[in-house]
Amino acid sequence: MKPFDVYPLFDIVLEKAQGSYVWDTKGTRYLDLYGGHAVISVGHSHPLYVERMKAQLERIAFYSNSVKIPQQDILAEKLGRLSGYEDYNLFLCNSGAEANENALKLASFHNQRKKIIAFNRSFHGRTSLAVAATDDHKIVSPVNETEHIVFLPLNDAAALQQHMNDGVCAVIIEGIQGVGGIHVPTTEFLASIRTLCNQYGAVMILDEVQSGYGRSGKFFAHQYANVQPDLVTVAKGMGNGFPVGGVLISPKFEAKHGMLGTTFGGNYLACAAAIAVLDIIEQEALIDKATETGNYLMQELRNIPQVKEVRGLGLMIGIELYEPCSQLRNKLLSVHHIFTGSSSDKNTLRLLPALNLSKEDATLFFEAFNAEVQK
Ligand code: PLP
Repeated sequence: MKPFDVYPLFDIVLEKAQGSYVWDTKGTRYLDLYGGHAVISVGHSHPLYVERMKAQLERIAFYSNSVKIPQQDILAEKLGRLSGYEDYNLFLCNSGAEANENALKLASFHNQRKKIIAFNRSFHGRTSLAVAATDDHKIVSPVNETEHIVFLPLNDAAALQQHMNDGVCAVIIEGIQGVGGIHVPTTEFLASIRTLCNQYGAVMILDEVQSGYGRSGKFFAHQYANVQPDLVTVAKGMGNGFPVGGVLISPKFEAKHGMLGTTFGGNYLACAAAIAVLDIIEQEALIDKATETGNYLMQELRNIPQVKEVRGLGLMIGIELYEPCSQLRNKLLSVHHIFTGSSSDKNTLRLLPALNLSKEDATLFFEAFNAEVQK
């Protein structure tokens, strides 16, 4: 048997990682500004993270949600406190798609409606309803197609108003669109969604799978707009590489036994990873660090004439060029040994480094980038 060949892969085999760096089997060191699809939040192999994971593994790694797992309470309390959602409840699962799938399901259970509003260039994952709400027909299989989803332009409050009615179940939006090329919803638009959802009894879902956990310079990107969604989905940076996701659920949703469920969600190791991540974010003030380093990097990039636009907040940065960026991305990797990300917009390079990226490493990237675009 061989792995099912669905991924275009770099010819690189990694064997070691530390902080913002990874090493391949030939001993080459790479600066990681991609974090494996925005997953590495507190840095690779952070000592506290490693210590907590080892200690948990030696005690108990797994049991299902048929016994009390006190680590889930600790995680929920810490996440509530650090995110400002202290009165919300937490449902734990294993990935971003699963978090969105459960959020959409919960919304529909809540108001018994079916119509979902999503936005152009959205990405919400690859499971049934999450992929149907994803604006990429190539990854939607015939069985996932549904007439329940409507796609509207991002930041167009008039279009949204036109489509809102008593049949709308939920509006789902990314805190910052990631895969779509780093597009930030305006604070006015997020406020309109909140107002219209209140008016029509629809559920506001914020997908913070990529933009959450401090990446934007606030715990959640939507907090720049001072709105409170009914449901917030999280994954990626939450476990710094251990698969864990979750839905933050407003107290207005009533839980019933059996309504949602998962075998693996909220297991001991997942909780240990997620608690360690929150402790590190808090102890090392990583959210402020993300703002500081992100602002520095964006400011420098905006001075380069070959750059058309720099979009983003904190350390979730999109660099749009006047031409496709795939060659540049390959050069950054092969010549300068720097990992960056692509996006569905072929001209936009994505940066999603660990939140503790140093200013020196940000400068290293900036100089390599500048040298390549001047060629
Ligand atoms: N939502 C957003 C905004 C994402 O960026 C992603 C993944 O890129 C997902 C959901 C899906 O997450 P996962 O791959 O963990 O299922």
